[in-house]
Amino acid sequence: MSLESFFRPKSVAVVGASRQKGKVGYEILTNMVSSGYEGKVFPVNRSAETIEGLKCYPDLTSIGETPELVIVIIPARFVLGIIEECAKVGTKAVIVITAGFKEIGEEGRKLEEELVRVARRAGIRVIGPNCLGVIVTASKLNASFGGDLPAVGGTGYLSQSGAMLAAILDTAKANGIGFSSLFSIGNKADVDELDLVKALASDPNTKVIAGYLENITDGNEFVREAERISHKKPILLMKSGGTEAGAQAASSHTGSLAGSEVAYECMFTRAGIIRCDSITQQFDFAQAFANQPLPKGPRVVVLTNAGGAGIMAADAIEREGLTFAKLSKKTVEKLGENLPPAANLHNPVDVLGDALADRYEMALDVLLDDPGVDSVLILLTPQAMTDAKKTAEAIVKTSRAKPDKPILVCFMGASKVQAGIDVFREAKIPQYESPEGAVTTIRTMADYVRWRSRPKRVVRLFPVNRRKVESIIERHLRKGAREIGEAESKEILEAYGFATPKGSIATTADQAANIADQLGYPIVLKIWSPDILHKSDCGGVKVGIKSAQEVRDAFDLMMYRIPKKLPDAHILGVLVQEMCASGREVILGMNRDPHFGPLMMFGMGGVMVEVLKDVAFYLAPLTGDEAKQMLMNTKTYRILQGVRGEEGVDIEAIAEGLQRLSQLVTEFPQIQEMDINPFVVGLPGTTSIAVDARISVEK
Ligand code: ADP
Ligand code: MG
Repeated sequence: MSLESFFRPKSVAVVGASRQKGKVGYEILTNMVSSGYEGKVFPVNRSAETIEGLKCYPDLTSIGETPELVIVIIPARFVLGIIEECAKVGTKAVIVITAGFKEIGEEGRKLEEELVRVARRAGIRVIGPNCLGVIVTASKLNASFGGDLPAVGGTGYLSQSGAMLAAILDTAKANGIGFSSLFSIGNKADVDELDLVKALASDPNTKVIAGYLENITDGNEFVREAERISHKKPILLMKSGGTEAGAQAASSHTGSLAGSEVAYECMFTRAGIIRCDSITQQFDFAQAFANQPLPKGPRVVVLTNAGGAGIMAADAIEREGLTFAKLSKKTVEKLGENLPPAANLHNPVDVLGDALADRYEMALDVLLDDPGVDSVLILLTPQAMTDAKKTAEAIVKTSRAKPDKPILVCFMGASKVQAGIDVFREAKIPQYESPEGAVTTIRTMADYVRWRSRPKRVVRLFPVNRRKVESIIERHLRKGAREIGEAESKEILEAYGFATPKGSIATTADQAANIADQLGYPIVLKIWSPDILHKSDCGGVKVGIKSAQEVRDAFDLMMYRIPKKLPDAHILGVLVQEMCASGREVILGMNRDPHFGPLMMFGMGGVMVEVLKDVAFYLAPLTGDEAKQMLMNTKTYRILQGVRGEEGVDIEAIAEGLQRLSQLVTEFPQIQEMDINPFVVGLPGTTSIAVDARISVEK
């Protein structure tokens, strides 16, 4: 159901309006009245005749017409009654400001569930409870106690914390930052973050969706919708707190490495959501996205009146991975004709300390025409001759005449540049406290542009043997077994197209030697027990065995030593396995997040994986590009490509392995965690081998 009535209600009733200054019921009513809201306002209060000159009603029914939006501020135990009354009079949108619901425990949770039940039955949408309210600047609606109506702007904001929203409003006011709307979602009993993101996506006054979230109700649905919406409007989120994924006892490497924040990080990347670390950064980004065109590419030019500031910006451009624009011959000539001889005509263009507005204006005009420039960063420090205000006005004028490229400014200093900053605020040109803040913003915009133009996601489907896997998993679940051992894990992997080393189980030394003779040397011996997860840790792996006698010795040694170390482990025998040709050892893994589903992992493998922690994660199902991107996000990637004269290994084979694994865990939701460690990859053209694997399953 549409949330339109929260954006542009024709009439609003305030249930629990109060005449007492300082009470929320008073603050909200006066905010409603003083914001200039043009619809009708009905205060509802049993004991008052009028409040703030408005006629009061004892209840909703006695108003005699249907208020389109109802704001509820009365104690929690009476709220349900009001929802029922709303159902009776036909109101479809309610904001419950009142606290004392889910957040106070069991009793409150029940009350909240009941509230949602009654509202849903009547087709009523509820924002809150336990929230600060709603602000919509275009309709001058201030149904909140968060502060005054802010300036009009292109940012639509949603916050899971009312207190954060109050801070955001205050910061915005001090910096002259505008909003299309702000929503405090409180306990999000009915309307949740996704409903609002969708509503803001279709709100014509919102250009940028920003928010502060602590958790996401439906992770999968949120990713899907956010990915669609990010194509049209950037989504900038601050996120705190983790998921339960990290708290789960993890038996795989992947599980222990997938910290709680990893799932969110992956989700953001996938959905093109821009993550912000602080309110300041979120404003930095929002200002630019809301008020400037997007850059066509990463090439930045710096225009400055101070060499030092220019160098700081140049360093930041380099650090952020942007490109320092190379100016065309024509640009340099034109600048040369108009600037004093001491000026720097190349990037960073230095118009010198005595520059007045005209030099900035001319240089900006020329730079905007250069086809090798995607965005312009303008710096100014207040020197003896500087006129910040006139310079700002000249910049605004030029930017309006040539509006196709983003312009970000940083007038460094305080009182001496304030008049210039005010001009930028008025003209909605994003203004930054430091060159670094501006450069990070440009980088974020360039990243977003790149994300939007990325190729369509195509997930490759490999022909596999699903039935085989189904039967192995079912057999384990019927027995109540969570862990699938190495041998059957390998059968599963083979069914999904992985090569695994040949081998069989032996229970005596002679049997082991026989198997080894058949397989051929060198050979590997591994302890075989459902209770031993990490075989090397207890001396349960012996590689490079070259003769039958060595096999017998190794067998006897394991059978002697391991039961001493692990007296409770049930030892079934040893696995006699062919030894793989040497190659790089990597890990391919998966950990299922309760909110976002399977998280794929890639990293440097072998026994050191948890020490080095050089791993990358991504949400399944993976496309070929995403699999390769995962590889590139690790330091291991450089080693795989070949270092110091060594040949590189088969990168494509690893990417394919990740995609096959992604298909497996997507098709079998019973798989909770798994990893292939090591996955041994050789030179291109050789077969990569899943040497060791572990899978844990659940119903
Ligand atoms: P675990 O991880 O339980 O300790 P693995 O089977 O992964 O046991 O073996 C540990 C290490 O031994 C591997 O990382 C790999 O370096 C080496 N290894 C094990 N099996 C083989 C094999 N068949 N061929 C080559 N090396 C092997
Ligand atoms: Mg292993």
